[in-house]
Amino acid sequence: MAKIFCVANQKGGVGKTTTAVNLAAGLAKLSQRVLLVDLDPQGNATMGAGINKATLKASIYEVLLGLCDVASACVPSETGGFDVLPANRELAGAEVEMVELEQRETRLKQALHPVGEEYDFVLIDCPPALSMLTLNGLCAAHGVIIPMQCEYYALEGLSDLVNTIKKVHAKLNPDLAIIGLLRVMFDPRMTLSQQVSAQLEAHFGDKVFKTIIPRNVRLAEAPSYGMPGVTFDPASKGAQAYIAFGAEMVARLLPDIPPAAAERAAAAHGQV
Ligand code: ATP
Ligand code: MG
Repeated sequence: MAKIFCVANQKGGVGKTTTAVNLAAGLAKLSQRVLLVDLDPQGNATMGAGINKATLKASIYEVLLGLCDVASACVPSETGGFDVLPANRELAGAEVEMVELEQRETRLKQALHPVGEEYDFVLIDCPPALSMLTLNGLCAAHGVIIPMQCEYYALEGLSDLVNTIKKVHAKLNPDLAIIGLLRVMFDPRMTLSQQVSAQLEAHFGDKVFKTIIPRNVRLAEAPSYGMPGVTFDPASKGAQAYIAFGAEMVARLLPDIPPAAAERAAAAHGQV
């Protein structure tokens, strides 16, 4: 069964989509079968994976409303080596239309169930809000990856997110756990970055991923070419960091992920 992770942070522009797209590509490079779910009406993950959001035949919008299944709406990302359940601005309407539906928090979870055996990882790129869409992501997931910029206000928003995750865990999804905090857009020359990073480690211990994603212009340039940074410039510091992050994720979860998937990852890493 696929391991399902949400990339979430209600703050805007903190690197959620960059993390989701590049982790998907990094895991694909480790021979993992990955589905990237775009749960944001901005459709940035869709575009970043090289898929034109303006010409979709079907999208996550139809899936959430029960008009189409996941397998029919999925599109392969040629540049990333993974599948995408794409989104565009139509998805903004789903929020309102879902109000009338039964079990509206668990529609994504139910929709993903039939494809659980097809993938090793499902990564969900959440929008920048603690909305019904994000709630669907949290209800569908086993774990949350929280990308964070190491700056003062980052910590302020974190407590709201952690409280929401705790509530979802208690009331809606007992499987949900915080997998880890990922430090992104890190600038080692800034004293504040160093201080906040140290604070995160002190507070959250091994919930902070060892891998740190540096600020790197190649990661920012890649989406305009419809490519994950990991594919666009594999040798760049940003791409290398996301590949290392993929390996750290697999290593962390190794006892939990299916043996066949672990074997493929180890082989891709030259370990067998
Ligand atoms: P939103 O909340 O709007 O969905 P987001 O949290 O998904 O935003 P991204 O879109 O991933 O954030 O990143 C915001 C901007 O920062 C983008 O222009 C992206 O290219 C850039 N960016 C992300 N990570 C890095 C990085 N490590 N180095 C340089 N630029 C980055
Ligand atoms: Mg985004």
